[in-house]
Amino acid sequence: MQLRILGCSGGVSSGQGTTAFLVDNTLMVDAGTGVETLTYQEMLQVETVVLTHSHLDHVSHLPFLLNNLINSAHKTIQVYALHHTVEALKKHIFNDVIWPDFTTLPTHDRPCVHLNIVKYGDVLSFGDKQVVVLPVHHSVPTAGYWIGNEEAAFAFSGDCSQNDALWQALNNLPPVDMLIMDNQYSKIDKSISELAKHYYPDALKFDLEKLNYRPSLFISHLPVHHKEMVMKEIRKVLSSWKPSVLEAGQIYTVATAKKQ
Ligand SMILES: [Zn+2]
Ligand SMILES: [Zn+2]
Repeated sequence: MQLRILGCSGGVSSGQGTTAFLVDNTLMVDAGTGVETLTYQEMLQVETVVLTHSHLDHVSHLPFLLNNLINSAHKTIQVYALHHTVEALKKHIFNDVIWPDFTTLPTHDRPCVHLNIVKYGDVLSFGDKQVVVLPVHHSVPTAGYWIGNEEAAFAFSGDCSQNDALWQALNNLPPVDMLIMDNQYSKIDKSISELAKHYYPDALKFDLEKLNYRPSLFISHLPVHHKEMVMKEIRKVLSSWKPSVLEAGQIYTVATAKKQ
């Protein structure tokens, strides 16, 4: 299984877009600003988008992706997200004010996008892949995802802070080869981190101990400013995990978690 990182930063700067991953060219996980690194031809290959939550850094480029596809022969893009996320998209983006209602355009019968509601624990099938909706804890209702096939799997925390449910769910699923966890803040910003419901290194360490095994660990959602400082702290706190920075522009083969 091929995992291409289009963006995975906590903010934007040159070469550092916000969260968007592409699995085997057709399945997108989140649609942040990283989407703009795709060519038009690559956008045409996207069939399905699973969204973690409604925050702008995870959905900002869904409207632009759809806008590129609306006049093509592309079939309806299937978006899967929690009820809260779907309602937020309808009310605040596809509302004919911020952006056209692409759920009814160009025609009601063959719209550009269909918004499907999922709930925690749902298992979706796309080709050879299964996608499990994971419970996580953030400032708005948020889903993580376990994505795997017969050979390999990875899991992504979305945006997350301390909880038990995610770890219980992961312990009850086939082990992942690659675990992608978000960490936006340093311990210096512990109070902001707790307010924003994001992990900081000590909290992440505490929660990782709840997992029954040790997959390769990758860190996403690092801040644009002080990225190196936060990663240095993570490497120290999680030294036994040997965490790697998830890198935008890289293609990972999930089976071995090595960069190609
Ligand atoms: Zn968020
Ligand atoms: Zn985020």
